[in-house]
Amino acid sequence: MPTPEPVVLVVEDEAPIRRFVVAGLAAHGFAPVEAGTAQAATMAATSRRPDAIVLDLGLPDRDGLDLLRDLRAWYDRPILILSARGREEDKVAGLDAGADDYVAKPFGMPELLARLRAALRRTISSGAPEPTLTCGDLALDLVGRTCHRGRQEVKLTPLEFSLLAELMRHAGRLVTHRQLMQAGWGTADGTEGGSLRLVVHQLRRKIEEDSARPRRLHTEVGVGYRLTEPS
Ligand code: CA
Repeated sequence: MPTPEPVVLVVEDEAPIRRFVVAGLAAHGFAPVEAGTAQAATMAATSRRPDAIVLDLGLPDRDGLDLLRDLRAWYDRPILILSARGREEDKVAGLDAGADDYVAKPFGMPELLARLRAALRRTISSGAPEPTLTCGDLALDLVGRTCHRGRQEVKLTPLEFSLLAELMRHAGRLVTHRQLMQAGWGTADGTEGGSLRLVVHQLRRKIEEDSARPRRLHTEVGVGYRLTEPS
């Protein structure tokens, strides 16, 4: 039996953009549902239980961030923010409010599709806690607390291990400074920002071919980091 197409709720008040996203999703194996207001979005989210939500932050009847916080109270599947607000503090606010990722307008459909697929893969694979996390040729054994790059063991400090585990759990997706500080130090008050940069620097020396030109651990300026397969 074929797998049903993932239902994606597109919340966007500007009709041309909404139509563009809906057409793109429909052409790539998704079943899009549309909403032009926050109220319509809440109704569609409860009645259709979509597999993912693409959410514009600038809505006519309500602030998109408030809607996001409300959705997160009960909706645990991926939410991708789509917004013209390119400012870093808006990205951080969106991710901290529970969004899985952020695509800034103007955007291309391939980028949106890639982010959406990465977010959906994570939900599908996160059913049971995995003893081993992988990303490309990197493998992290959470039970034995070892790290391998290919067949080579990479020696990590406990702090490096915690941060890499957090990045690998969210492979392909943006992880905020706040999330990483919480994972590494158990605090997110921002005082560990300098230490975080230092640990990322050490991690790059261990997992990158050339730490000056990272191909796995990417900086998202002012927001956080993203771990990918070597690009
Ligand atoms: Ca808008």
